[in-house]
Amino acid sequence: MALLLKNAHVIDPQVGLNKVADIVVRDGKIVEVGENLSIEKGVEKDLAGKIVVPGLVDMHVHLREPGFEQKEDIASGTRAAAHGGFTAVCCMPNTKPVTDNATAVEFIQARANAVGKCRVHVAGACSQGLKGETLSEMGDMVAHGAVAFTDDGRGVQDAGMMRRVMDYGSMFDRVVMSHCQDEGLVGDGQVNEGIASTRLGMLGWPAEGEELQIARDIALCRLTGCPLHIQHITTARGLKLVRAAKEEGLPVTCEVTPHHLFLNEWAIGDDYNTFLKVNPPLRTPEDCNALIDGVIDGTIDAIVTDHAPHTAWEKNCEFEIAPFGMIGLETSLALIITNLVDPGHLSWERAIELMSVKPREILRVERVAIEPGCTADLTVVDPEVEWTVDAADFFSKATNSGFIGEELKGRATDVFVGGYATLEDGAIVE
Ligand SMILES: [Zn+2]
Repeated sequence: MALLLKNAHVIDPQVGLNKVADIVVRDGKIVEVGENLSIEKGVEKDLAGKIVVPGLVDMHVHLREPGFEQKEDIASGTRAAAHGGFTAVCCMPNTKPVTDNATAVEFIQARANAVGKCRVHVAGACSQGLKGETLSEMGDMVAHGAVAFTDDGRGVQDAGMMRRVMDYGSMFDRVVMSHCQDEGLVGDGQVNEGIASTRLGMLGWPAEGEELQIARDIALCRLTGCPLHIQHITTARGLKLVRAAKEEGLPVTCEVTPHHLFLNEWAIGDDYNTFLKVNPPLRTPEDCNALIDGVIDGTIDAIVTDHAPHTAWEKNCEFEIAPFGMIGLETSLALIITNLVDPGHLSWERAIELMSVKPREILRVERVAIEPGCTADLTVVDPEVEWTVDAADFFSKATNSGFIGEELKGRATDVFVGGYATLEDGAIVE
């Protein structure tokens, strides 16, 4: 089947493209990019006023299947992803059972193929059952398509264990992604330790609880040579450690979430909104500013959501007993456009690197560029549309967003995965 996308503003820093052009897609591949293109038969779509970019990738999501389908499943989570403009996600292994063996990896892939609305890359667990004690079946999982390893949700507590994980990861040229949390320091911490924990009268989750493991894992990266990716970085000092590691030439990358960029510890008020309980916690305004600088200067490689759906009843309780996490797939792109691109702090090119190019590089999955021969994974963005975040509009089963009621600008209108539309004029294609 042929598809002709006409008159869109096409932006792709990988091939130096930033102009109005037409794109012809045939059999799932881009075959031509240029001006005044036509096709004899097929589907034509006029995208005047829209921006077309290489399909967005969110390399940190929780799809919750198997085991927690009351929160989200692969069908609903990938619909939320398509609605948010994503052509691919990477799902975390803290499912039930834990994704720590090849059968579990294959189950997720099979479900994604059957009911998914975007590509689903699977991250396998580093340790069996996320316990941090015994290596998972890493080699077998690689053989069955796992793209990366992480015990996300928990930090690997033992340095020797983490070293073995990274020794194995480097053997397979897979990135080890680290959720940095020293459990001895963090304990039952609920909110950032300091003003927030004092003001709110809750146990603190200190910045050092994250920074210690960032420092340790960078040292282990130096020791093992294994590519290291720091997940959901939140502190200015943690970012400094990553910046220094990069300057040293170590294969270290990192990611940040929109909520850690645009919400700080002061957002948690007298209502103790449990939607703002996230792990790591919302940090200080100074941390947010440092993270934004890191996004702009390239120290931060990827924007991810850490999309963490929970049911209404799980979040509708006292702050201390609510689970950590907020959803993000359907607001991420607009938050970046509204807060960074539209005001001129971040170029479209940088935004595309953060949300499309670098995630694929880090996960070592197929490069997608807007040039002939590449797979037609494309995201179409209306950069001008203004909208208000409304829980009723989410395709996710969950509504635990910290941005409900926020007025945003820019939104994905159409998404193509391998040339097929998964989102058309804002509606999921079933
Ligand atoms: Zn995590």
